[in-house]
Amino acid sequence: MVDARSPVRRLLLVGPPGAGKGTQAAFLSEALGTPAVSTGDMLRAAVAAGSELGLQVADLMKRGALVDDDTMARVVGGRLAAEDVREGFLLDGYPRTLRQAETLDGILGQLGLKLDAVLVLEVPEEELVTRALARSREDDKEEVIRHRLAVYREDTAPLVDFYRERGILRRIDGHQPIEKVTSALHSALSAEGTC
Ligand code: AMP
Repeated sequence: MVDARSPVRRLLLVGPPGAGKGTQAAFLSEALGTPAVSTGDMLRAAVAAGSELGLQVADLMKRGALVDDDTMARVVGGRLAAEDVREGFLLDGYPRTLRQAETLDGILGQLGLKLDAVLVLEVPEEELVTRALARSREDDKEEVIRHRLAVYREDTAPLVDFYRERGILRRIDGHQPIEKVTSALHSALSAEGTC
C-alpha cells in the first residue's frame, strides 16, 4: 500500500467519464496525504456559486462539451500555485486535450515541479453507459453520456500515448469492484516499472 512516504506524489488520474476517477482519487489522496484536485468539482462549485466562471461554463457542462483550454489553464494554474499542493497532488479531470497536457507541463515547469506518474483507469465503453444510466442524474441522459464518451475518445485518449512516450504511464483495469481497483492503483504506484 502506498502512504504519505511514497516518493510518487504528483499524479494524474485519467479515464473516461464514469470510470470511477472521483471515488479512487478520494481514496488515494487520503492514503498519500495529498489534495485531490478535480477540475470538474471546481467548475461545478463555480456554477453553484453563480460566479463569472460558473456562468461562463454552465451551458457547456450541461451538454458534456469541454470548457476552452485558456479558461482551464487559468483555473488549474491558480490551483496548482497554492501552498497545499507543493508536496503533491492528485489531479483528476485535467488535462483533457493534448494542448492542455502541454500547458500543464508549462505550469508545472514554472513551479519547478514535474509529474511522477499518470494513472489511466480503463473501462469498456458499454459498461460506462450502463453505469451512467443506473446513476441517472439530470445531466446523465444517454445522448449526453455518449457525447462525453466520444469527446473522451477523440480529445483525451491521445494523452495515453503522450504520457506513455514519457515513460510515466501506468494502466489500471477499472472494470472490477471498487476495492480491487483501489488495490490495483496502489500496486501500480508501488511498482518500479511503467506500462
Ligand atoms: P468531470 O467531472 O471531470 O467529468 O467534468 C465535468 C465537466 O466539466 C466536463 O464535462 C467539462 O464540461 C468540464 N471540464 C472539467 N475538466 C475539464 C477540462 N480539463 N477541460 C475542459 N472541460 C473540463
